[in-house]
Amino acid sequence: MSEIDNVLKANEDYVRRFTLRHLSRRPARRLAVLACMDARLNVEQALGLAPGEAHIIRNAGAIVTEDALRSLVFSHHELGAREIMIVGHTECGVLGLDDHELRSRLEVQFGPAETPKSFHGFPNLENSIREQMRQVRSHPWLLGRVVVRGFAYDVKTGILHEVSDD
Ligand SMILES: [Zn+2]
Repeated sequence: MSEIDNVLKANEDYVRRFTLRHLSRRPARRLAVLACMDARLNVEQALGLAPGEAHIIRNAGAIVTEDALRSLVFSHHELGAREIMIVGHTECGVLGLDDHELRSRLEVQFGPAETPKSFHGFPNLENSIREQMRQVRSHPWLLGRVVVRGFAYDVKTGILHEVSDD
């Protein structure tokens, strides 16, 4: 059996115990979290969030890509989120990633591709989180409308360190 088949089995149990029918489309705590997809980071557990309480947007590196922005703008304007957290973490896979090297390697092996345009590798975690905060705050449709704070999650302790603005 594949892992997807295992997951489908788990879902059957989930459905038998399902209790979330009552939830609203709007996140109850009016919070959106942009976090890295890292498998060690359990966003809901680490932040004490229950289903229905927050939007969780994830990608490699917690990067404010065009699609992350799309979700954040939608979260604020259509679904009522007022606060946005950016959550990166120590030992991130894209920390120190050489975009050019990875792209060249894949092109040599598999040929050219239009997308992704970038893998968004970054050399410094805190600076990247600051840059993501800037991207969100400065978007004309979010500017002055949402609280944006950034954090570095430590995968060895579970601690969230707040990243200062400057
Ligand atoms: Zn990561």
